[in-house]
Amino acid sequence: IVARALHPAGSVVKVRGVPIGGEQIQVIAGPCSVETQAQMDEAAAGVAAAGCRLMRGGAFKPRTSPYAFQGLGVIGLEYFQRAAQRYKLPVVTELMDVRMLDTFMEYDVDVIQIGARNMQNFDLLKEVGRVNKPVILKRGLSATLSEWLMAAEYIAAGGNHSIIFCERGIRTFETAYRNVLDITAIPALKRETHLPVIVDPSHAAGKAWMVPALAQAAIAAGADGLLIEMHPNPCEAWCDADQALAPDELQALMRTLAAVAAAV
Ligand code: PEP
Ligand code: MN
Repeated sequence: IVARALHPAGSVVKVRGVPIGGEQIQVIAGPCSVETQAQMDEAAAGVAAAGCRLMRGGAFKPRTSPYAFQGLGVIGLEYFQRAAQRYKLPVVTELMDVRMLDTFMEYDVDVIQIGARNMQNFDLLKEVGRVNKPVILKRGLSATLSEWLMAAEYIAAGGNHSIIFCERGIRTFETAYRNVLDITAIPALKRETHLPVIVDPSHAAGKAWMVPALAQAAIAAGADGLLIEMHPNPCEAWCDADQALAPDELQALMRTLAAVAAAV
């Protein structure tokens, strides 16, 4: 279902009227995790001011340590929606557990994010395949392109064809940065699928200073958009503080991206 041959010109996934794929580059920005109403209000203002048309934020966080902050849970969805609605920003948030799917529908989450760690959680994929909501499918930490494509087929087979692939860096022997952004995957995947491919430079870099270079490289390589972590006060972020851009850094990056997109 996701094979390029079925739609050689490529397909566009629409999120409340915002097209992902096609001519425009879309940038989804926001904090790693939802913390407080004030933090989300400030973040939403920063996302809108930078000209991004969708907002991210996790209420349920897949943390390496069970003792680390796990996300606010349902109240986080409430803070997120309240902040995003003021700026008419569609919300993108991670679903980790099938049992929360009805709650996500109730809170009218606009895009369901499937995280890298759940790329091959087949029961979760089957369930999001049955709902009428766009899904961002992140690449697993060590998933091959064919495994990633098959994971998307699990979603598509249930009837939900609104799938957006997201490259977020893979595990290699290198330890100097969080993950290796697989730029090669962008043209390679786009040749295999008609669906949009976006890139998350934040989780690849793990450091904010590296994010602009990776973001620009991704757009130059043909990515349809980006998923970027931005926090109103990066030093105080409860999760992934090192990789969060400040609102003014996001604004500056957005200006350079327009130039890169125009050049390719
Ligand atoms: C995230 O986007 O906050 C996240 C946890 O990403 P990943 O699943 O790519 O690690
Ligand atoms: Mn994060």
